Amino acid sequence: MAFTPPVECPICRDVLELDRTLEDHLVGNHSHGEVARYLAYLHETAGVKPVLD
Ligand SMILES: [Zn+2]
Repeated sequence: MAFTPPVECPICRDVLELDRTLEDHLVGNHSHGEVARYLAYLHETAGVKPVLD
């Protein structure tokens, strides 16, 4: 049987119930503004590339 580690919300650090998805949590517990800010932050960090000399 596969072990599913608990999912932690990246915004409020709540550990989600096993039968809930992060998407459910974001929709139910956070405003669109909070989620949008989080996604923008993810996009920002993903866009940072290591500098090669
Ligand atoms: Zn949360």
